[in-house]
Amino acid sequence: MARIDVTVRGAGIFGLSIAWECARRGAAVRVIDPNGPGAGSSGGIVGALAPHVPEQWNGKKAFQFESLVAAEAFFRGVEAASGVSTGYGRTGRVQPIAGPEALKLAEARGEGAKALWQGYSCVLAADRSRISY
Ligand SMILES: Cc1cc2nc3c(=O)[nH]c(=O)nc-3n(C[C@H](O)[C@H](O)[C@H](O)COP(=O)(O)OP(=O)(O)OC[C@H]3O[C@@H](n4cnc5c(N)ncnc54)[C@H](O)[C@@H]3O)c2cc1C
Repeated sequence: MARIDVTVRGAGIFGLSIAWECARRGAAVRVIDPNGPGAGSSGGIVGALAPHVPEQWNGKKAFQFESLVAAEAFFRGVEAASGVSTGYGRTGRVQPIAGPEALKLAEARGEGAKALWQGYSCVLAADRSRISY
């Protein structure tokens, strides 16, 4: 029987990332998922990785932000080794804003994002009357 160092159960983003990192470090890895890769939430439809909202910044949010920054190199590494596109892209997203209160909040988040996200991401909020199509 082939040598197995690590068995990962579940081929979602967490299981596959752990399996990938173990394999990268030289372990012989087996992944078991009766439903196949991406069968759970990781095959979901939204697919946006975003830094957490900047207000009430704390260590957990900082860690999430660092993870987001690391994602680019992580996914490019997977692509380089596999020759398969991961589909990862920094495309930004458009989010409708429900009304004046929500717009005020989004504008405040824009200021927080400028200060905390180190130019990596930003929040641009605008009333639709100020946008031309
Ligand atoms: C509709 C939707 C949209 C989302 N949008 C976003 C988003 O935009 N941004 C974001 O960051 N997060 C988003 N999330 C959350 C994100 O998808 C999850 O947090 C993440 O995918 C969880 O990954 P996971 O690997 O822990 O679990 P999963 O992807 O659910 O993987 C678990 C895997 O374990 C397998 N499994 C279960 N039991 C066993 C067993 N006994 N043995 C072996 N395998 C087993 C399942 O088949 C499955 O493949 C969204 C979730 C949903 C549902």
